[in-house]
Amino acid sequence: MDLKTFEVWFVTGSQHLYGEETLKQVAAHSQTIAKALDAEKKIPVRVVYKPTVKSPEEIYQICAEANNAQHCIGIIAWMHTFSPAKMWIGGLKVLHKPLLHLHTQFNRDIPWGEIDMDFMNLNQSAHGDREFGFMMSRMRLDRKVVTGHWQDPATIDRINAWSRAAAGWHDWQGARFVRFGDNMRYVAVTDGDKVEAEMRFGYSVNTHGIGDLVDTIKQIADSSVDQLVKEYADKYKLAAGLKKGEVLHESLKDAARIELGLKTFLIEGRYKGYTDTFEDLHGMVQLPGIASQRLMADGFGFGGEGDWKTAALVRAMKTMGSGLPGGNSFMEDYTYHFEPGNELVLGAHMLEICESIADGPVSCEIHPLGIGGKADPVRLVFNSAAGPAINASIVDMGNRFRLLVNEVEAVKPVHKLPKLPVARVLWKPYPDMRTGCTAWILAGGAHHTCYSQNLTAEHLRDFADMAGIEFALIGKNTELYQFRNELRWNEAYYK
Ligand code: MN
Repeated sequence: MDLKTFEVWFVTGSQHLYGEETLKQVAAHSQTIAKALDAEKKIPVRVVYKPTVKSPEEIYQICAEANNAQHCIGIIAWMHTFSPAKMWIGGLKVLHKPLLHLHTQFNRDIPWGEIDMDFMNLNQSAHGDREFGFMMSRMRLDRKVVTGHWQDPATIDRINAWSRAAAGWHDWQGARFVRFGDNMRYVAVTDGDKVEAEMRFGYSVNTHGIGDLVDTIKQIADSSVDQLVKEYADKYKLAAGLKKGEVLHESLKDAARIELGLKTFLIEGRYKGYTDTFEDLHGMVQLPGIASQRLMADGFGFGGEGDWKTAALVRAMKTMGSGLPGGNSFMEDYTYHFEPGNELVLGAHMLEICESIADGPVSCEIHPLGIGGKADPVRLVFNSAAGPAINASIVDMGNRFRLLVNEVEAVKPVHKLPKLPVARVLWKPYPDMRTGCTAWILAGGAHHTCYSQNLTAEHLRDFADMAGIEFALIGKNTELYQFRNELRWNEAYYK
């Protein structure tokens, strides 16, 4: 995904009171800042300068335009001078794209020897931005406030994170996700209110019977299958039996046909992600393993067992992380290592971990699944890199959605796992195993997550604010007593 196709609009607020000369300078400064942000390598989207707005009509106009502009994913607003904020009510009332309030100033330093009243009248964001901030708070509008000089790397980092979150949010609007079959029977956390989700998040989730997918898979040409099997052989270390002429080669071809069928179905249906469940595979030869792993690497969202919330989240996080080193994958907290002082979580899934988080050799293997009653599925097996990461989960609390994030530290696997036939990650949850897991469980976090190597809690917090949903963070400073209170207070806030 190329985020450079997206724009954020740089909008400066002022008023007519100052006269033409001052307004000319305001416009010139705004152009300089917008141009610099646009050229900034760290900011993945275009930053487009818009003429200074000075009246309620101009403000309303720019907000309405932003709503309708297909490539505009948000607005950066800055009050270089004072911009009486009642002028902003009409525009802010209709604006439904994310807003970042950049609280900056053109000059980094006060020119001590030169400063006069003209300088003061031009450079007054210190109070102009307070007036604007009051109005947004008075209107109870979520936004990101970023304070600092516009050339300060820390300021750029905040804008970068927000613009990535806005890209993920934009990608959800009108997005389509397909479920093959329903939810895994009796499972609670993967289920939820799809009507509320569409109203709140902007994406739709609809079901197709697995037979529709099977029909597409059957229509894939043998020549396409042969070509994909060759790609597997070139790219991965094929396990014994899978190579051409060997006893399990047909299974590899079956897996390739499933991947091609799924991809065709998703592209033709304009779907950005999907779910499946091993309880509904009628007519399928295998549960999609390598197919889901590779489609995720292509940017599709995926959730196992009918988990549409996680499928959508994986897609959004892949969009947000576009172009950054590291990957994003569907994940499941699977098994614990409770060795005192070296507690670890082993994350994996039955099959479907995205190869974007692979570190070292990737082998293509075939093993029995144990459940589902289908032929042995082909899958990619690999380890994942050490380093900081997050797990994110959206849960449906009935009266609201909660986005829960746990900061973790992935560790380098010390032990070979010769008998474990799935891709895996080992991590230490912050602040520690006892607190991190207890807090996760108290918050009702799912066993399914999106695991990210290249996003931080900041991206997800900005994203939750855009969606207007609850955000709960389990990080380095989490303390259980405080965290429990936070969940209880949020219960009242969202009543
Ligand atoms: Mn699962």
